[in-house]
Amino acid sequence: MLVGIDLGTTNSAVAVWRDGRPELIPNAVGELLTPSAVSVGDDGALLVGIAARERQATHPGLSAAIFKRRMGTAEEVRLGKRSYRPEELSAMVLRSLKADAEAFLGAPVTGAVITVPAYFNDRQRKATRRAGELAGLNVERLINEPTAAALAYGIHELEEERPFLVFDLGGGTFDVSLVEIFDGVIEVRASAGDNRLGGEDFNAAIVALARDALGEALKAKPAETAMLDEVLRAAAERTRRALSESDSAPFQIVWKGEALACDITAAAFEERAQPLVDRLRDPVLRALRDGNVRADTLSEIVMVGGATRMPLVRRAVTRMFGRFPNARINPDHAIALGAAVQAGLKSRDAALKEIRLTDVCPFTLGVDTAHRDASGKVTTGLFAPIIERNTVIPTSRSEVFSPMEAHQQVVTFGIYQGESRFVAQNVKLGQLDVPLPKDHRGLIGIDVRFTYDVSGLLEIDVEVPGTGTRRQLVIRDEEDRESEADFAKRRQLLEALKVHPRDQAANAATLARANQLFENRLGHERQVVGEWIAHFEGVMARQDPREIETARAELEKAIDAMDGEQYL
Ligand code: AMP
Repeated sequence: MLVGIDLGTTNSAVAVWRDGRPELIPNAVGELLTPSAVSVGDDGALLVGIAARERQATHPGLSAAIFKRRMGTAEEVRLGKRSYRPEELSAMVLRSLKADAEAFLGAPVTGAVITVPAYFNDRQRKATRRAGELAGLNVERLINEPTAAALAYGIHELEEERPFLVFDLGGGTFDVSLVEIFDGVIEVRASAGDNRLGGEDFNAAIVALARDALGEALKAKPAETAMLDEVLRAAAERTRRALSESDSAPFQIVWKGEALACDITAAAFEERAQPLVDRLRDPVLRALRDGNVRADTLSEIVMVGGATRMPLVRRAVTRMFGRFPNARINPDHAIALGAAVQAGLKSRDAALKEIRLTDVCPFTLGVDTAHRDASGKVTTGLFAPIIERNTVIPTSRSEVFSPMEAHQQVVTFGIYQGESRFVAQNVKLGQLDVPLPKDHRGLIGIDVRFTYDVSGLLEIDVEVPGTGTRRQLVIRDEEDRESEADFAKRRQLLEALKVHPRDQAANAATLARANQLFENRLGHERQVVGEWIAHFEGVMARQDPREIETARAELEKAIDAMDGEQYL
C-alpha cells in the first residue's frame, strides 16, 4: 500500500488514495494531524506526536520539535542520553504515521510519497529521503508541497490553463509557488520563499508582547530559560489561535507555581507582527517575476499551511492581489491530500486522469569563477550560475568559460548550489580539474555543461573544444538505492538531452528555411527575417524546450506567411 505524507514543521499528516479520492488517516488518538515532535519518556521509551508535544514544556531537555528546520544539516539534538540527527527525528515521526496508517488500513504500508518545501535544497531533500528509509518506507517520490497542494485543489481537473499561486505559510516555512497545467502536464513554474518564516515567528511576536506586559515576573535562572521559553511559546500558540477568532485573547502561563496572565489584542499583535507580514510580499513578487506571470492572470490563489488562518495574513494576501484567496480545503490537510493524489497516480488508479508531473530545480547550480576588472584587480570566489533556479527539469545547459591566465595549465571548477553571488555562501557539491593545452595564451573557451534530472542526479561535462580533453563528474544521491542498471538507463535518457537545441533536427530545419528566405529577400523584408532569426537563436540559447517549441511554431508561421506557402 502506498500513502502520501506531509512531513510538516509543526504537524504531519498521512493520507491514502481510496475509492477514487484522497482520504486523511487518523492517528492512534483519533486526530488527523500528528505533531512533528519527539520526546524521551520517563521510562526511556520514545514518544511521538501529541504526547511528545505535551512534554515539550515540562521536559524541554528530553524533547525535540521544529527539527525540519535543521534537515540537511549535521546539527544534532540531544534528547537525554543520546543525540539525534534531524533525519532520525523525522524518521520517528514517519514511523509513527506508518503505524497509524497500517492500523487504519489493516494492510502493510510499503511505500510513501513524501512532500518537501519547493525551496528545499539537495541536502535537505536527501535527508528527507533518508528519514523515510530509516522509517522503513520505500520513498517512491519526494514531491514539492505546492505541487501536492495543487493536486488537492484538483488543478488537473480544471478546464482553464491559467496558473495558480500556492501561498503556503506553515509553522516554520513560507513558500510561494506558481503551479500551472499545460496540455495535461502539471508544473511548478516558479517558486520562491523564506525558509525561516512561519507561525513560530508570529508566536515570538506574541511572546514579545507578553514579556512587555508581564515584565519582572518572567525572570528565569540560566538553567531555566529553555523551559521558560517553551512555556511562553506554548501559551503564545494558544493565544494566537484564539486571536484568529476574536479581537482579544488571554495569554496565560503558570511559572514557578504562580499563575500569570495578560490580554493580547489583535490590534497589538498586528502591529508587532507587521515586519513579518511585510516579509510575505517579496517572495510573492519574486515568484511572479520568475514565472513571468502577472497577478491578474492567475486563476486561483490557494491558501495552505495552518498559519494562513491568521486574519492578518488573509488580509495581507487580499490586499496584495486585490481579491480573496481560496481556502476551500482545510489548509492543514491540503498537502497530505495532494500527496495521496500523487500516490494514487503512482499506483495508476483508474479514477485519475493520466498526468505527468514535472518539477523545477528549486535552487541555482553553477561553478566558481573569478573576475578581473578594468584596473586588473581580480575577485575570486564568484558564483557563475549555469542552471538557474526554477528551470523546468530535467534540463541540460552549458556555458563557456575562459582561463584567467595565459599560461594556466589546469582549471579547477568548484560545483556549487545556492543563490548567493559568492560561492562561500553556497553549498559546495564537488570539484572538477580540467587540464589545458600548452600555449593557449588564454584564448580558449571551456565548455561546461550541467545536466540535472528530477531525482537529483547532476552530471557535469567539461570539454575543451578542439583538444579532445573531456572531464565528467556525476553527483548523485549517496542514498540512492536504485540498481546500477536503472542508473545507467537514467543517464542514457539524460544523454538525449545534451544535443544543443540548435543541432536538433526540427530547429535546424526551421533555421535553414529562415536563412534561405533571408537569402532570397532584399531590403526591409530581409531585415525582418534577420530579426526573426536572431530572436529564435536567442530563444534556443536559453535551452528551454517548451519555449523553443512555441518560438519555432511562430517562426514557421511567419515564414509561411511571407513565403506564401500556406498548405491550407
Ligand atoms: P503547518 O506547518 O502547515 O502544520 O502549520 C502549522 C502552523 O499553523 C503553526 O504555526 C500553527 O500555529 C498555525 N495554525 C494552526 N491553526 C491556526 C489558527 N487557527 N490560527 C493561527 N495559526 C494557526
